[in-house]
Amino acid sequence: MSNSFSANLLLWFDQHGRHDLPWQLNITPYRVWISEVMLQQTQTTTAAPYFTNFIDTFPSIDKLASASIDTVLHNWTGLGYYARARNLHKAANLLMDKYNGELPMSVSELEALPGIGPSTAGAIVAICANRKATILDGNVKRVLARCFAIDGWPGKKATAKALWQKAEQLTPDTRVRDYTQAIMDLGATLCTRTSPDCSNCPFETECIAHQSNRSDQFPAKKPKKVVPVRTTTMLVIENPQGELLLQQRLSTGLWSGLWSFPEGDAIKDTLLQLDIETTLIESQARKEKFRHSFTHFHLEITPVHVKLTDTPATIGGKPIVWYSPSAPAEIGLTGPVTRLLKELG
Ligand code: SF4
Repeated sequence: MSNSFSANLLLWFDQHGRHDLPWQLNITPYRVWISEVMLQQTQTTTAAPYFTNFIDTFPSIDKLASASIDTVLHNWTGLGYYARARNLHKAANLLMDKYNGELPMSVSELEALPGIGPSTAGAIVAICANRKATILDGNVKRVLARCFAIDGWPGKKATAKALWQKAEQLTPDTRVRDYTQAIMDLGATLCTRTSPDCSNCPFETECIAHQSNRSDQFPAKKPKKVVPVRTTTMLVIENPQGELLLQQRLSTGLWSGLWSFPEGDAIKDTLLQLDIETTLIESQARKEKFRHSFTHFHLEITPVHVKLTDTPATIGGKPIVWYSPSAPAEIGLTGPVTRLLKELG
């Protein structure tokens, strides 16, 4: 089926695929790399404006490498999975040191760079060099699992192996660039997670899952684990100028290097650690709690809005900024900060 699979897919792509996404225009290895990394955990419509802004701000590997990590994280704020931005920055510096500021065009060399796995490496080689290479991102996994009824959760080794073998076997020798874009596009536009548009799909008559009315069963879901819930209180401390106190997180661990509101279970203790005298407090309002979820736990956050009558002279021992929402500093913010800033309007 491999020849007919790719021929079918390419025929569909020529007529119905998307050809004007920002990263499909003016294809360069740098642009493809940035887009593939953004698309690893972000949907096309969300990623597109971020991509355009990122490329405008860092138009080359050299510009990305020489930017400060804070500026890179600032431009990533809102996309989540910040390790991707940190790895892009690290990889850009490695490319400057080792490869003269160019991306190498081999899967093995690309895979050795931070944040580039086999599928992203395959996509870069296939799209940029139009050379045969395998890709298997989330969209492709879904299409293949359904078309060929491949059982099991794709996070399981055996399932991942079966999917990779199928992806390898189906990749054609010619028009690899188009094929690569086409299969990702089919997964993103027709073979969607919850409501696949099978009547417009080029595989309608061959797809095993669809033919047996089981498209909702593929790919199999991740086995459910009970995810623990942790709680915290975030202090949104505002000075009389309307600026908000942000602290930089440690360079390792959760939200490493990003800027966030001070946290602690007891409000008084947190203020004490920041050397903020209680006499400076004008008002204090507890806001509705909300949940921020990570892969391994949920964080239940209770925000407390503290208004000060003055800006304290000293603030704890850690790096801080007084962040002005109307003239934001170029720093990376955590998800809850972005959310609370929006709520504060
Ligand atoms: S027929 Fe439906 S389930 Fe099968 S690949 Fe096409 S869109 Fe997906």
